[in-house]
Amino acid sequence: MIPPGATIGIVGGGQLGRMLALAAAPLGYRCHIYAPGEAPPAAEVAARFTRGAFDDARALARFADEVDVVTWEFENIPAAPLAALVAHAELHPPPRALEIAQDRLAEKRFVESLGGRPAPFAEVSDPASLDAALARIGAPAILKTRRFGYDGKGQARIAAPGEAAAAWEAIGGRPAVLEGFVEFDAEFSILLCRGRDGGVALWDAPLNVHEGGILRRSIVPAPAGLAPAIEKGAALARAIAEALDYVGVLAVEYFAVGEEALFNEMAPRVHNSGHWTIEGAATSQFENHIRAICGLPLGPTTRAAPRVEMENLIGDEIDQWPAILAEATAHLHLYGKTEARPGRKMGHVTRLTARAEA
Ligand code: AMP
Repeated sequence: MIPPGATIGIVGGGQLGRMLALAAAPLGYRCHIYAPGEAPPAAEVAARFTRGAFDDARALARFADEVDVVTWEFENIPAAPLAALVAHAELHPPPRALEIAQDRLAEKRFVESLGGRPAPFAEVSDPASLDAALARIGAPAILKTRRFGYDGKGQARIAAPGEAAAAWEAIGGRPAVLEGFVEFDAEFSILLCRGRDGGVALWDAPLNVHEGGILRRSIVPAPAGLAPAIEKGAALARAIAEALDYVGVLAVEYFAVGEEALFNEMAPRVHNSGHWTIEGAATSQFENHIRAICGLPLGPTTRAAPRVEMENLIGDEIDQWPAILAEATAHLHLYGKTEARPGRKMGHVTRLTARAEA
């Protein structure tokens, strides 16, 4: 057990690190952020900040020597220097989860090995294999880089086979997977937290609405009709966590198609679709992640209101903050980012309402 008063090292300095540090404080932990930026959002609310590159193994090791446990809030970190930190501090979740999640192909194969079903996919390594993949899977489809994609980046849609060459160019001609376009009924995610003792806490699965590849809003409870798909998604998420001997919060995103849950992707970290838990659940994803990595008992995940909706504030939507503050049931979170670039997540608002549907 890592008792309150100890220092938690967080690799990555974005809003997820900021909310982790904010959740760690009431439990008496100090946070030390490691990130490459000059003044990252997480560093502003943490006790210490070290500026360093994610691939600087020596700087990372020095940072790990100064903390009691290391976790991460950002996925596109080179896995090898991070995994090497086990020699310097406790490290949770397991780096293998990061390695798998960083490669869309490895991730899908791993999930299949556990009995899960991803959308139809094929490996693409050059224009010829893209043509072969398209012939097998058919259009419409989405070409995604295997690595370093997020928020819809590194993706190109292919409406008809004639668009293959342009798509290959659009993703920079990098190793990729081709995915069949799923005519889903809805998207949802499973958010779970697994403790060091193997105990698992699950939150209500949010219905997620994406726009342009970016999460727009998450709503709990999800419509009752999604229950069978959610049950299957939760079973697979548990299996993933067990297989990896996972510790911390794991998010798994799904496409609901009828009663089926098609695996989309997993995030071995706290997740945007779990932001609603800050005010919307008895224990937030951030607090339970801190509890899990420190070996504390997990807190209850009970929903705090009949309906909870989280909406991202993207780009200049952050300018809506005065109106949001004037709402009685809205909880505003601004991430302290100075530049409101289009597509950038600047904050979010969570609304708790008494009505079950709206
Ligand atoms: P991703 O970053 O891969 O999760 O993609 C972001 C969003 O794009 C997803 O949440 C979906 O809304 C959409 N999307 C991605 N892949 C597919 C697919 N194979 N079929 C339909 N929609 C998709």
